[in-house]
Amino acid sequence: MQILIATGNKHKLSELSRLLPAFLPSGEKIEYKGLADFSLTLPEETGTTLAQNAQQKALYAAQQSGLLALSDDTGLEVDYLNGAPGVHTARYAGNACNSHANNEKLLRALTGVPIPQRTAHFSTVACLAWPNGKTKLFEGICPGHIATTYHGTNGFGYDPLFIVDELGKCFAELTADEKNAVSHRGRAFSKVRDFLLAGNKLLS
Ligand code: IMP
Repeated sequence: MQILIATGNKHKLSELSRLLPAFLPSGEKIEYKGLADFSLTLPEETGTTLAQNAQQKALYAAQQSGLLALSDDTGLEVDYLNGAPGVHTARYAGNACNSHANNEKLLRALTGVPIPQRTAHFSTVACLAWPNGKTKLFEGICPGHIATTYHGTNGFGYDPLFIVDELGKCFAELTADEKNAVSHRGRAFSKVRDFLLAGNKLLS
């Protein structure tokens, strides 16, 4: 069977296909496709929650391609900032911003805030959507704190500022496998993996 991963990002496509199973319990191979294979581009995200955005992307991809589609949407929620940047995580410092600008804005917003009050979590909502409009959501959360300076050089986005509580280290100090074992995305996709491996009737 084929599953369309609703992302235009090649890096994400290869990362996600490594977190997901290669075969169904029946022995049938699962082939992961990207939007580029169908010349599709996702419409602009208009949801007010991660779940709405994930659902919109997966439904669009499933209905346009006729395949089972899988999407994800991730946000960083900082308690001291009342849950910001949330759904605006990618564009926190503005529409044309980069990760450095986002990180600098976050550090500025938390200037002088002591570590115990810098609690935050990353959430990922993954969504499977079928061409008939059915959807199923899977959530993964990683609790942590926002550091006061940058730590580590691995990963991307807010990784040098996000201290994972259970490891006491920033994501950017972890290898990709160490990060996947505890991360929001790793946790959401391990639930997707379990669903695919449960031999669900919907998949046949
Ligand atoms: P997306 O929904 O996966 O595109 O993520 C939205 C934004 O969240 C990205 O542009 C990054 O800034 C940030 N982000 C998502 N996942 C991570 C992560 O694992 N580490 C650090 N930043 C992340």
